[in-house]
Amino acid sequence: MSFSTETRNIFKTQLEEIRNGGIFKEERIICAPQDSDIEVEYPIGSEHKEVINMCANNYLGLSSHPEVIAAAHKGLDSRGYGMSSVRFICGTQDIHKELECKLTTFLGTEDTILFPSCMDANAGVFEAVLNEQDVMIADRLVHASIVDGMRLAKAQNDTYKHSDMNHLEQKLQLHQDKRIRLIVTDGSFSMDGDLAKLDKIVELAEKYNAMVFLDDSHASGFIGKTGRGTQEHCNVVGKIDIITTTLGKALGGASGGCVSGRSEIVEMCRQKARPYLFSNTVAPVVVAGAIAVLDIISKTTERRDKLERNTEFWRKGLTEAGLIIKEGETPIVPVMLFNAKLSQDFARDLYGEGIYAVGFFFPVVPKGQARIRTQLSAAHDIAHLEKALAAFKKVGEKYGILHKTKQEVIDMYGM
Ligand SMILES: *Cc1c(COP(=O)(O)O)cnc(C)c1O
Repeated sequence: MSFSTETRNIFKTQLEEIRNGGIFKEERIICAPQDSDIEVEYPIGSEHKEVINMCANNYLGLSSHPEVIAAAHKGLDSRGYGMSSVRFICGTQDIHKELECKLTTFLGTEDTILFPSCMDANAGVFEAVLNEQDVMIADRLVHASIVDGMRLAKAQNDTYKHSDMNHLEQKLQLHQDKRIRLIVTDGSFSMDGDLAKLDKIVELAEKYNAMVFLDDSHASGFIGKTGRGTQEHCNVVGKIDIITTTLGKALGGASGGCVSGRSEIVEMCRQKARPYLFSNTVAPVVVAGAIAVLDIISKTTERRDKLERNTEFWRKGLTEAGLIIKEGETPIVPVMLFNAKLSQDFARDLYGEGIYAVGFFFPVVPKGQARIRTQLSAAHDIAHLEKALAAFKKVGEKYGILHKTKQEVIDMYGM
């Protein structure tokens, strides 16, 4: 037998260890379109329950927007379901080029290339652009897909302490002998919801002749006055050499990603990036939907403005309720609970109150920093947020953690 009992037991044991460590991930089944109100079957086999979704990346509420769905239907009818090809063989339609153009205009760059996902964009870009004479200097909290992409590249790999500009400067000085220095950062960091100091990063890049790579997946479409992302927020539009972002979050939430930036770099990706060369093209239906998304958000800032108001309301409400949140301005709002078990108990009780949010703990976040990460959406109305706030208050009271300091919460529950 190829999969012998002995072999099976290797994996059984590993899975058991994951379970015993309390870090076994379980899927929750959503039986409705993605929205602020969703129907969930959890645990599996139980009756469907309507809950308010506080943990989607549906920042602009466009995942199930009627105009986007209509455009996707039209794309499906006019350009078919699948392309059965990678881009450079016979997988490039007029709408793929149109979407790339729209992304270039929206991001204020020179050119754009689509990838099946942003994970793929990050997996391909470093290897395609850099060689062993170069160095990548990354913020220590960059997204896992960037870490993986950097591993695939031949360039030297270095890091700087999270958002520590002095440390970055030291590293830039250290690597002056390299052909290319590439500073690598997320725009909005997904676990803490803080923004990169992109203006300072660009300043250092200019001083030390470095390029800047920005993954703006948690910012494109809503950070900055017109939603152009962290680069707009920090006033450095046009100064970022490589931007990667996803269509899988605010920009419709289906799938797809891109590399956008200097035209020669994008062209290098077309010639050499392996996920572009060897993985299937983005489906026409998704491309058509994404074009509609860009049209909507290029016309009006209504949705990002509503998201901003929701974010302010939520941050203020949680703080006044006496919960500890990570300060910031993004719609990623972590409610700090510090203890892993408390984060799980808290999330379960919230679910009982009709609020869907997930507790994160080590290794997703550092030890002693367990939390419930809430995320706002333009699909939320104030009534949703009021109901969610009431639930957070009720559960917070149950555990006796309202209006307590971090130390008091840790004294009660441990790290
Ligand atoms: C979500 C995310 C990705 C992955 O995007 P996909 O298109 O889903 O692969 C990459 N980078 C960052 C920073 C992200 O938050």
